[in-house]
Amino acid sequence: MEYKLTSKAYYEALKNDRLLGLKCRACGAVMAPPSMVCRRCTGQDMDIVELKGSGTIRTFTTVFVAAEGREGEVPYVIVLVELEAGPWLMGNLDGVDPKAASMELIGKKVKMGHKVFPGDKYSAGEGISPLFSLID
Ligand SMILES: [Zn+2]
Repeated sequence: MEYKLTSKAYYEALKNDRLLGLKCRACGAVMAPPSMVCRRCTGQDMDIVELKGSGTIRTFTTVFVAAEGREGEVPYVIVLVELEAGPWLMGNLDGVDPKAASMELIGKKVKMGHKVFPGDKYSAGEGISPLFSLID
């Protein structure tokens, strides 16, 4: 079995603020980040699609305790966003004071960019994450 969309290609696109996903030819489900099989029907026949990174915050958490090696980054807010394209995607939230983050964030509209962060004690190098910001 081969990967239709590799993690490398996914993260390279993310570096350019492009979100790639997969669309299942059998059932139409759209997935991001990439997976080997359709999460709905386990089909393997999928097309690479470019998705809009806009969506709605469904939940969030504020991180106060850092992973080893990333102590300089806390506090920060992680959001789970339901994209208009369908998939739910996790990423950092920009432009909101983490100490002031409240339940009012849930339901807010966001757009996606990206964030490059240094690796922590356990990773092989830098990482790339979706970085969401509120649309006003
Ligand atoms: Zn499917």
